[in-house]
Amino acid sequence: MDIFKIWQATLGELELNLSKANFTTWFRNTYIASLENDKVIVCVPNTFTKAWLEKKYNQAIIKSLRNIAGTPIKEIIYKVEVRPQSEVISELKIQTIEKKLDEGPRVPVIPQKDQWCEVGLNPKYTFKNFVVGKGNELANAAAQAVTVKPGEVYNPLFIYGGVGLGKTHLLQGIGHEVLARNTQARVLYVTCERFTNDFIHAVRGGRAKEFKDTYRGVDVLLVDDIQFLTGKEGTQEEFFHTFNALHQNNKQIILSSDRPPKAIPALEHRLMTRFEWGMMADISSPDFETRVAILENKCKEKKSELEREFLEHIAKTIQSNVRELEGALNKIIAYHQFKSILPTMETIDEILQSFSPVQKRKSIAPRQLIDVVAQYFDVKINELLGKSREKRLAFPRQIIMYLLREEMKTSYPAIGEVIGGRDHTTAMHAFEKISRLSKEDEQLKHDLELILDKLYNA
Ligand code: ADP
Ligand code: MG
Repeated sequence: MDIFKIWQATLGELELNLSKANFTTWFRNTYIASLENDKVIVCVPNTFTKAWLEKKYNQAIIKSLRNIAGTPIKEIIYKVEVRPQSEVISELKIQTIEKKLDEGPRVPVIPQKDQWCEVGLNPKYTFKNFVVGKGNELANAAAQAVTVKPGEVYNPLFIYGGVGLGKTHLLQGIGHEVLARNTQARVLYVTCERFTNDFIHAVRGGRAKEFKDTYRGVDVLLVDDIQFLTGKEGTQEEFFHTFNALHQNNKQIILSSDRPPKAIPALEHRLMTRFEWGMMADISSPDFETRVAILENKCKEKKSELEREFLEHIAKTIQSNVRELEGALNKIIAYHQFKSILPTMETIDEILQSFSPVQKRKSIAPRQLIDVVAQYFDVKINELLGKSREKRLAFPRQIIMYLLREEMKTSYPAIGEVIGGRDHTTAMHAFEKISRLSKEDEQLKHDLELILDKLYNA
């Protein structure tokens, strides 16, 4: 086997054990340069990928390579080497040039520096007070990386995760840090809503050109909650051109969303693929230690003291997201200050009760679940219920079976029936597999959370 094929097969194997987002982020544009005796040289597009592969995936890569090449590989050297950009880039160039010709010659109006400074940034949210833990280390590392070389490492950087997990904080942190490193940088932070409204008003008020000059004249554009582009065709079109113009000029784009690009409904395909161009980093719920660290940090900010025992108790009770955690802490501090009493486990518990997650769930039909999962994984329903065992179908199918059992307490034979006339043992197997994986696989946990959120809250 030639080394090219070996690497393809290795990637194929690695892909099975990684989320799509992680796989694309870390392994796209990697290739093998040589394999001699027990040493392999793998080329990667940038130092950040190099560091991450060395730190996180080295063992897994060695293992797969050994399996596939059948040689006792001992060491992998990761080398940063940039391959020529793919054709997609030239397609983009052509489109942008056409667009420019359409518009005719234009004189860019660059706003005054002080108009730009800290646009949309809230001093509360900085890197310094962002606690890094297991659920957000990738997103944090990526955020740090883009501030060092905006427009050069990952473009765009796409950060996604559930509500209250720190996306806005991180985006704002990037904005501050870019400005701290370069006071001349033109940084613009907007919510997707703000972008939409600006655009609509600009068009109505005959200020389209001004709008373009503003958004296309920045060095770093941060757009928060980009999932709200869903269904807004006109705004998507405009955002597409803004994106292209910035990307073309190596200006940094950072986006946040509550779900990966593929799971944003009614998002134009060309936007979805662009969102996946650079780096996708997800944020998942913080683990216990991180929750305690966040509480400690917030106490310090508020100059309040709570014993560690209490903080741990709060962190144990509130697990879902940081916003709730913070809300509970605020309430506890306020309550004791107001009453001028010292906190005890009892008083704290009393307050925490109002935060306990007793959600009344609406009842869901199996068909709705299938719809949501199909949409989330971007596959067709008839394929899901069909015979093919392709991985891209088998996995979502197993998730459906798992959720039918876990959430709706459907019997195994009935699950088999719903999922295209399969045997009940298939359903049992799927349930066991996903139950097991969901305990250890952060990406899967996150997928399940988003699916349930969509199912119950949409
Ligand atoms: P999102 O945009 O993902 O919904 P936010 O960024 O608004 O979440 O975060 C919600 C609250 O939690 C904010 O007050 C933020 O400062 C805080 N927070 C979230 N993650 C962290 C973290 N890792 N360290 C410190 N504070 C955090
Ligand atoms: Mg937010």
